[in-house]
Amino acid sequence: MERLFEPLAIGPVTIKNRIFSSGHDTVMAEDGLVTDQLVEYHRARAEGGAGLIVMQVSGVHESARYTSHVLMATEDSSIPGYAKVAAAVHPSGCKIFGQLFHPGREVMESQDGSMPVTWSASSVPNERFKVMPRELDERTIAEIVVGYAAAALRLQAGGLDGVEVVASHGYLPAQFLNSSVNRRSDSYGGDLGNRLRFLREILEAVRAAVGPTMAVGIRISGDELDPSGLVEDDALAACAELDRLGLLDYVSVTVGTSASLSGSDHIVPPMSYAVGYTASYAARVKKVVKVPVLVAGRINQPQDAARIIEQGSADACAMTRALICDPEMPAKAMEGRAEEIRACIACNQACIGHFHAGYPISCIQHPETGRELLYGRIRRATVSRNVVVIGGGPAGLKAAAVAAERGHSVTLFEARSRLGGQVRLASALPEREEFGGAIDNLYGEASRAGARFELGHAATADEVRRMAPAAVVVATGAKPRRPELETMGTPSISDAWAVISAGGRLKPQGRTVVADWRSDWVGIGVARMLAANGHSVVIAVGGYAPGESLQQYVRDSLVRSLYRERIEIMPLVRIVGADEDSVYLQHVLTGEPVIVEQAYNLVLAQGSLPEDELLRELAGDENLSVTGIGDCLAPRTVEEAVLEGLRAAWTI
Ligand code: ADP
Repeated sequence: MERLFEPLAIGPVTIKNRIFSSGHDTVMAEDGLVTDQLVEYHRARAEGGAGLIVMQVSGVHESARYTSHVLMATEDSSIPGYAKVAAAVHPSGCKIFGQLFHPGREVMESQDGSMPVTWSASSVPNERFKVMPRELDERTIAEIVVGYAAAALRLQAGGLDGVEVVASHGYLPAQFLNSSVNRRSDSYGGDLGNRLRFLREILEAVRAAVGPTMAVGIRISGDELDPSGLVEDDALAACAELDRLGLLDYVSVTVGTSASLSGSDHIVPPMSYAVGYTASYAARVKKVVKVPVLVAGRINQPQDAARIIEQGSADACAMTRALICDPEMPAKAMEGRAEEIRACIACNQACIGHFHAGYPISCIQHPETGRELLYGRIRRATVSRNVVVIGGGPAGLKAAAVAAERGHSVTLFEARSRLGGQVRLASALPEREEFGGAIDNLYGEASRAGARFELGHAATADEVRRMAPAAVVVATGAKPRRPELETMGTPSISDAWAVISAGGRLKPQGRTVVADWRSDWVGIGVARMLAANGHSVVIAVGGYAPGESLQQYVRDSLVRSLYRERIEIMPLVRIVGADEDSVYLQHVLTGEPVIVEQAYNLVLAQGSLPEDELLRELAGDENLSVTGIGDCLAPRTVEEAVLEGLRAAWTI
């Protein structure tokens, strides 16, 4: 891994190693300004050893507000916030760049419920957000170019080391570059030289404004990987020309576009994409430019980053989610503690998932992220106490890890012979294998902190009382919910969990209905397992689409597989009953019956019920201090389980 820890000169700036955090919106800005939480978020990554942090996008013009919580650089009042971030990261030897941003037509959200006028190179609609932009006139183009330079000056005044013009993912400069979006006949449209004019003018203006001491680069999609996206040849030609003109200190390569469903999952690729799959795009950019090339794309472990650099595909690697998940990852890698790294599993749930939902980003494995002001530094307990944790799913494991890290003496009981609870089921599903990494990571944390494990030991209320611990954390999880059904004869009805545990094998062979209430990974996963085992599968969902409750990129990746595997999707139905050769459903809007004939199996993915008997028994005991966490309180997801584990352990 030595190459990973060699310094790299990026124009006038030298970064101490090749690990960086690429620009990602945190939803931690307020009123367009940096907050204390945002400062602490970046401080943690800098202290953890990252060589470079590229801050989230900063809007350069009023029309750049693509969400209601975007960070802005249009007023001098933004400068003190940038200065605080720079002051927080610099003492660790970490450099910090800002992203200069205009989304053009990629406006995701309104500011007040009403949609603003959006701008682009031409009036070509956005497929994903259903935006019809207005063609930019030359006066407004000039105003926006000035905005880029003025924003760069504010970031410089804040003490940032570099600026990056965001020309990736189909944002405004890419809209000009892309002949499918730029239909202009003036000097900004037509051949590539003209389509590049907007980005060239921005870079010239920024360069002239900030002078030679600040690094100036671009982020670009090596290919937008979309039928209407910027094609690789044009992206390469643009990089080559800007490099030839001496306008760049670096190129940061990614792939995909915000403009479509299929293009956008590359923005934060879910676990179905191979680690480092974008490296070949960076390698081709590297062939046409002289300046350093950075790359992002599901690089979650230092050894993978090291390999990409050694192969010469890129000079530095964005390990953005890896740092969201484990801010100390670079330090651990450098100190030979790589096995202690909490590797990102690319579940997307609390990072980009929170961003899309409008909440500050976090991590399901490490809920301290995004909550650094509260949980940023472990608070040692004043007295070491005996703590009993019951249940070895994600909730119990996190409680055990944090309680032990705080100095308590922790014993965790798990009824089964294996830790992991429902996460083990998730990781048995197609495209979800990596999910199990969350349990390996949590187990590692808890055992390194000194927690003891009693596996194959179902704890009872009596024995807990006999142990008389100072605190009991109950994390007994959930069991499958089976709704009341109307049945005739002896239909084949199974729970999704049982089918997953059986590897997707189910008798009789034939047409099978998966009744999916929660529209999460369970219904889709079991449907795909059954299809892979030769069943003809119908997935009947209560909402408009399977996977509705999952983060968009995860959902789309899984739903794409459903279509490719010819699994029939039946939206807007609830399960009513079954007989030996039919499944009976009801339309959720009309109430009309919907019958699937010649269906010989019904598989229920109807969520779960809390496994809360032990909690009820113990909670009534005045001599015990008992806290219930996770699914045994109310079945939700790993995110809430781990967060509640943290909170419970924090208060012991
Ligand atoms: P959560 O997501 O809240 O952590 P899970 O359902 O994933 O919940 O995990 C709960 C774990 O608790 C399961 O592994 C289950 O075997 C275990 N468990 C349930 N009851 C007991 C008990 N009485 N003693 C020990 N372990 C238990």
